[in-house]
Amino acid sequence: MVFLIKKNYKLTLIAFIALMVVIPIVIPIFLFFNDSEITNIDIELHFNGDTAYTYVADQLNINTTTFRTPGTQGREDCAQYFITKFQEIDPTINFMLHNFTIQSVECQNVLFKMNENYTNIVILGAHYDSRAKATKDSTNPDSPVPGANDGASGCAVLIELAEVLYSRMNNLAVQIWFLFFDAEDQGTDVGVGISGWDWIEGSTQFVLEIDNFYNSSKEDFDAMILLDMVGGTNLRFINEQHSTSSLLDELFEIGRELNYTSAFPSNPIVGTISDDHVPFLNYGIPSADLIIKFWNQPAEWPYHHTTDDDISHISNTSLEITGKTVEQFIYNNYYDTTDQYQGNFPWGDDFNLLDSELLILLMVSLPIVGIAVVVLVLRSRLKKKIPKS
Ligand SMILES: [Zn+2]
Repeated sequence: MVFLIKKNYKLTLIAFIALMVVIPIVIPIFLFFNDSEITNIDIELHFNGDTAYTYVADQLNINTTTFRTPGTQGREDCAQYFITKFQEIDPTINFMLHNFTIQSVECQNVLFKMNENYTNIVILGAHYDSRAKATKDSTNPDSPVPGANDGASGCAVLIELAEVLYSRMNNLAVQIWFLFFDAEDQGTDVGVGISGWDWIEGSTQFVLEIDNFYNSSKEDFDAMILLDMVGGTNLRFINEQHSTSSLLDELFEIGRELNYTSAFPSNPIVGTISDDHVPFLNYGIPSADLIIKFWNQPAEWPYHHTTDDDISHISNTSLEITGKTVEQFIYNNYYDTTDQYQGNFPWGDDFNLLDSELLILLMVSLPIVGIAVVVLVLRSRLKKKIPKS
């Protein structure tokens, strides 16, 4: 081998340089062409942002003192509000209440099931509790948060989605869960919080007992999509890192295909959020969180965990963008004649940030290593050529 390399020294060198230069060029080209372009199926979307907006207002009006804080009458009345709304859609709709206790406070997740004759399940989720303390509010840190965006917006989209999907239920080859979580938003931030409470208590408790809510020998989960803070003005979703990337990517592509390029930017802000999708991911269900950048100043959503998270900062357009994107996602993947649709189902791949960082590192380091080797080889050749005195 060494003999061969010595003999074909020039050839080996050229091949080596070529390899070092070509690899970093070829990999991105391959990835670019391998990145499937998603084309939405041609179907009219019915989700209405104005209607969803009224569902945000309804939730805020349930109780204007403690809002939907865990353990309050407002929280109980909000659960009843969901039941009333879903029974308006279908008086016989199957709903299940999941009761649990955190810090001796009675809490409750609410689950509605649609199209139960199908054994493959997509979960659409949102938290409905509002935060007990506006810990990021400089003037009223002990006041409760109205939670117009942080809570009510996602729930409003779920109700409107249930209405539009129900009317096409017989064309959808999937069982859909509408799952409302209690006790998501009571943890500690900026050093303070509600004593003894953690984040995402409701979803964590639900997944611990998920076997009580489905038949694991017959049924299985395709995906879980979480909607959190989806109704604020200036809607711009982030690339949430816990999320199954093939699922989140598909939602972004669908949204961009619908011309929602501002809400689904091509180069989104990256963030890792402990949210209600995490317990489902840990359970093995591909899950994605549609959420905005709400942390650090200047935050894109400056009202997070303040008393200003009220109806005046809710946009019916943002609600509609979110709702129509999820509606299209369901049709793309489950509408009767969707043979032509090529999405990322079954959303097994997770191309995370680490992978892409590794790739960039490889692309940068390969030519450097290549050039270094070539320089070393040339130098050693040059030395050999200098005649000894
Ligand atoms: Zn929150």
